[in-house]
Amino acid sequence: MTSAETPATTPAENEVAELCTELISVDSSNYGDGSGPGERAAAEVVMARLAEVGIEATYIESAPGRGNVITRVEGTDPSLPALLVHGHLDVVPANAADWSVDPFAGEIRDGYIWGRGAVDMKDMDAMMLAVLRQLTRDGRRPRRDLVFAWVADEEAGGVYGAKHLTKHHPELFEGVTESISEVGGYSLEVDPSLRLYLIETAQKGLAWMRLVADGTAGHGSMLNSDNAVTEIAKAVARIGAHEWPITLTPTVRTFLTEVAAAFGIPFDENDPAPVLDKIGPLVRFVGATLSHTTNPTQLDAGYKSNVIPGQASAVVDGRFLPGHEDEFFKTVDELIGPGVRREFVHHDIALETSFDGALVESMIAALKAEDPTARAVPYCMSGGTDNKTFFADLGVRGFGFVPLRLPGDMDFASMFHGVDERVPVEALQFGVRVLDRLLLNY
Ligand SMILES: [Zn+2]
Repeated sequence: MTSAETPATTPAENEVAELCTELISVDSSNYGDGSGPGERAAAEVVMARLAEVGIEATYIESAPGRGNVITRVEGTDPSLPALLVHGHLDVVPANAADWSVDPFAGEIRDGYIWGRGAVDMKDMDAMMLAVLRQLTRDGRRPRRDLVFAWVADEEAGGVYGAKHLTKHHPELFEGVTESISEVGGYSLEVDPSLRLYLIETAQKGLAWMRLVADGTAGHGSMLNSDNAVTEIAKAVARIGAHEWPITLTPTVRTFLTEVAAAFGIPFDENDPAPVLDKIGPLVRFVGATLSHTTNPTQLDAGYKSNVIPGQASAVVDGRFLPGHEDEFFKTVDELIGPGVRREFVHHDIALETSFDGALVESMIAALKAEDPTARAVPYCMSGGTDNKTFFADLGVRGFGFVPLRLPGDMDFASMFHGVDERVPVEALQFGVRVLDRLLLNY
């Protein structure tokens, strides 16, 4: 549709693009080593825009420059649990030389907002702001308490954001049982009469594992039957070459069944490739959710050509399916064998929630009200988001729901952390309308 057919009418729809460009133009690159500009300036934009309409928010700096903003809207029915709506303010860095535009200018061109964070996730940050500002200006109150959180550091593990807040300020999230945030709610056009909206309900778990082999050190010219380099190489080769069997979790099975039905093709559980072909570039989000994965990523051994080292190590990036963690590690240990030990570099849970309940019904209703062709389907993502932290620390049931009605030919998945990241202005206006309905009515 062109903008002439769907005129932006509400103040929230009118201002969401400007809010998004304002946030993009504040560089909040997160390098993961503390060297970036931090999120303070972006948080100040949020605070100022909230203050403009009379909203008081709490500003929490977890470390110098690492800004977080939280505010609560009181609902009319205190018996209902609260809903958390969260977005991260940091972005991954962008190399300007690779881009067609300045990644931190927040330029609007050809109906798109261009810049780092346009989809990950200053789009949602701006939609949250626009909807909250309008609710406040209109004096409308939601049924339940809504907690809005704009947080730091998601791109580097949430230490200065979600993890800091849940650990040191859990009272801010009192009564919260569910949350919405990235990465889900975007459309996949099947044909003009049917758009699937992919709502994230599951995330794979993460196991970055260091494998260590101890052997007998010695001279490279002598006999040595206990070589640590040989042992680690064999273990890495076994684990890297292992073909993990297809294991369909309830979410993935539902997703594939729904996609197959939408495209009118059969779904064979033993050969899901034809179904995956139908979702095009979105396979980047879900292609790795049909099985565990183990990718060797680092090797370290030795310091001289003729010295056999006493120890050799490797790092493997393992991602396990929700509900199958024990089986994953059992197989990993069989693959690495008795001569190699395993320790964690980082270990994080897998998540899976069912696609049912009042929140899911409300999301579906809000989507359908704004797009009659909408059909919502749950999916599992192979990466992780802050929803994991909120679940692990506070038991909050999280969904990926950033509603965006996208052009049928848009390669949305490549936008995440990609060059020339951009989002249609109309998609944000759509998202504002959907979120307004959802947050007010749920
Ligand atoms: Zn993100």
